[in-house]
Amino acid sequence: MSDSKKLTTAFGIPVGDDQNTMTAGKRGPVLMQDVHLLEKLSHFDRERIPERVVHAKGAGAGGYFEVTADVTKYTKAKFLSEVGKQTEVFVRFSTVGAEKGSADAARDPRGFAVKFYTEEGNYDMVGNNTPVFFIRDPLKFPDFIHTQKRHPATNCPDPNMFWDFLSLTPESIHQVTILFSDRGTPANFRHMNGYSSHTFKWYNDKAEYFWVQYHFKTDQGIKNLTREEATRISGEDPNHATRDLYDAIERRDYPSWTLQMQIMTPEQAKDYRFDIFDITKVWPHSDFPPIEVGRLVLNRNPKNYFAEVEQAAFSPGNLVPGIATSPDKMLQARLFSYHDTHLHRLGPNYHLLPVNTPKAAPENNYQRDGFMRFDDNGGGAPNYWPNSFGGPEPDSNSLEPPFEVSGQAARHAYTHPNDDFVQPGNLYRDVMTDEARDHLVGNIVSHLSGAQKRIQMRQTALFYKADQDYGRRVAEGLGLEVKDIENLAVMSREDRAKATAEAA
Ligand code: NDP
Repeated sequence: MSDSKKLTTAFGIPVGDDQNTMTAGKRGPVLMQDVHLLEKLSHFDRERIPERVVHAKGAGAGGYFEVTADVTKYTKAKFLSEVGKQTEVFVRFSTVGAEKGSADAARDPRGFAVKFYTEEGNYDMVGNNTPVFFIRDPLKFPDFIHTQKRHPATNCPDPNMFWDFLSLTPESIHQVTILFSDRGTPANFRHMNGYSSHTFKWYNDKAEYFWVQYHFKTDQGIKNLTREEATRISGEDPNHATRDLYDAIERRDYPSWTLQMQIMTPEQAKDYRFDIFDITKVWPHSDFPPIEVGRLVLNRNPKNYFAEVEQAAFSPGNLVPGIATSPDKMLQARLFSYHDTHLHRLGPNYHLLPVNTPKAAPENNYQRDGFMRFDDNGGGAPNYWPNSFGGPEPDSNSLEPPFEVSGQAARHAYTHPNDDFVQPGNLYRDVMTDEARDHLVGNIVSHLSGAQKRIQMRQTALFYKADQDYGRRVAEGLGLEVKDIENLAVMSREDRAKATAEAA
């Protein structure tokens, strides 16, 4: 037998028998000295790492990004510096709310995270398949996610929790409308778009800056499931989208997306009619037509799921020179939370795992030690800065140009509450077809009917505020009085809650 075929312990020691535990006599108890058994069991006991608290169920693949248009007047990012330039990527798609073992067909946003291995370090674009989000203040995020998970007593998803929070959070109405349209159940990961959702900043080598939003448009075309199809597939093949992605790449039917950017100058941003940092809003295409920038192609399946997909760690804070954050509060909080989650799940040296390590740029710094430091840990090179022993030096060319910030430090409330209903109203009236509206109303009624009447009334008033026909049809589907909903729709959030408190 060749050495590579010989079974060994984790430390390379040959194993003579992997079927019979060592015992004291034929019928005696197990001996502590069976170190092979102890190693095998103790490793097995530690196989699971903490599940992601959101985006737990996912699939991933490798590929490349190719630049197709000259964008050097907007950004100095080197990976975008030349038409035709290719950069290796790793992409992870996911559902958001449910556990690692849950169904791919769930009604849920889908994560769309891209890691670009650029020559200036890893750049992560950590987006979703929806251009907006439910909330715009990160203080609400843990509460929101709790409502989408399991009830603390029953351990079951709970329509009362789900809709109670949303009906008391009017800014969620745009995302709720998208989620309950058939786009809330994409056919698979290949037939959906990816959006940055947040506004980011691009800056060029003259220190001029632009506000931007990313749209990865599927080249396969948008395809969605109806509620009935999603329910059936969830039962028949809970991993259908994971399998679909893997199989498409295996048969060389490589999925691709065209990257389009919406770009806004600082002048255009000044008096724009929506807050451009509010993640519950889109930038209308007619005001900011998306321009094509590149193409993302997935052509490599992971060889091992745990190594490459479960351990893939993305952070919106991984930005390369030429790309920067914006004041979007949700984005600012994610800059902390993603990295913090990876420290918890994977440990302080998660950047050394092959899928996370910068493949096209060296890692050069003074960080040392920590659990699972499995490279040479900087060898004998200096581990402090400044030093006079030739250690790596900061390069001021990589700094984001300075920008003005002013104002009073306070917990500022959002000041344009009524515009929350404009865009979902446009979506319902102007974008959706008759069939899309029928499906939307049917999907909402089927889910919201599980909640208490007072919650149904509050939530339906929000649909009514977006569009009267929308609210009326949901009210009729739920058997609510349309007149009551009309009255509730003109009240403040607080008055609406008081007025419905007694509804049984
Ligand atoms: P447009 O008519 O130019 O754009 C409408 C866009 O809506 C389409 O391009 C498509 O986006 C998207 N869309 C189509 N069907 C659905 C659906 N069932 N659920 C969600 N999105 C859908 O108008 P505007 O740019 O003025 O936007 C009008 C409304 O469209 C917005 O209020 C917003 O709700 C929605 N929308 C707008 C986007 C934007 O970035 N402007 C992006 C996505 C949605 P896509 O081409 O990205 O598939």
